[in-house]
Amino acid sequence: MAPRIEQTVHDTRMYACETRVVAGLGSINLIPSELERCGIQRPALVVDQGIAEAGLIEQWLPTEVACIEPRIICPMNPNLQQVQAGVDTARPKGCDGVLIVGGGSAICMGKAIAICLVNHGDLLDYEGSEKIDKVSFMHSRPSYFEVLIVTAASAHHLRTYDGRIRLRSFTSFSPSLDAISHACESLWSRNRSLITDGLAEKALETFLTRLPAALNHRELDALQDIMEASSAANLACGNTGLALCHAMNASPDVALPHGYVNGCLLTAVASFNRPFMDERHQSMVDRLPSLFAEIGWQAKFAKGEVDRDTTELFVNASRDHPFRNNNIRSSSGESIQYDVLLS
Ligand SMILES: [Zn+2]
Repeated sequence: MAPRIEQTVHDTRMYACETRVVAGLGSINLIPSELERCGIQRPALVVDQGIAEAGLIEQWLPTEVACIEPRIICPMNPNLQQVQAGVDTARPKGCDGVLIVGGGSAICMGKAIAICLVNHGDLLDYEGSEKIDKVSFMHSRPSYFEVLIVTAASAHHLRTYDGRIRLRSFTSFSPSLDAISHACESLWSRNRSLITDGLAEKALETFLTRLPAALNHRELDALQDIMEASSAANLACGNTGLALCHAMNASPDVALPHGYVNGCLLTAVASFNRPFMDERHQSMVDRLPSLFAEIGWQAKFAKGEVDRDTTELFVNASRDHPFRNNNIRSSSGESIQYDVLLS
């Protein structure tokens, strides 16, 4: 009989994806049928404040979606009280799902509202991973910003990506910078695997080659490519976990847009991590400065935006943060301060 193979478990990584991605020009018009498919009858609409104020819901979404009530407006970086107010608005209406139109803030707020709608106790009871079994998420992404459909009723996940309605004037660069940071963070995370590298590399290569055409010339095919690359980057970092950029960007006391801060940190974190990265990935992040020059992004904080106190907020936020422990290069508070923030 052949000898038994060694029973030791070596370093393991996990990849799981239950997200249904619907991509293509015009895919936003499929939201009503996708809601129906998920069995959501009374959704609450959670909308990014900027999108709502610019009248883009009426402009973008099919009429039957644009008129959904209640409409809960999400400010930048919402807090627990604002989430609770959303829950108090949606609960009496018997909402059985949440449709989210917006970026990170709206998505987080909408998911939090959905969790509270179908689970007992306080939102903070569900902090951490593997705590929730009663809610699943379906999302779609009509622009830089995401439309995310969240429901308690279905196990399917959905994203639709429709490049037509990406608006440069409205968004500046923040969401694209965040998407680029998601691909990079996956590539310099400890949890990366061949599968996540496949997604993150393709996403980053697409940003490097297609973002100027999308942002500077609003070419439809390029916009669509950026949508799909953003989705691929999310699927990559959703599995690897995020790293140093997002760890430093975790302070609730820094009142700057999430994507903007990541964009300011990105090249510095890339140089910090570079010696620990694959040669192939090094050559990709080396192309970031010329991409940023091409799209007119200065890639660092504006003068006076970050002082000694803010620097401390960044460093303190990252202390013992799981994202920082997931970063390929270990760091001390001091090394971050000098190598990353003040470079
Ligand atoms: Zn992010």
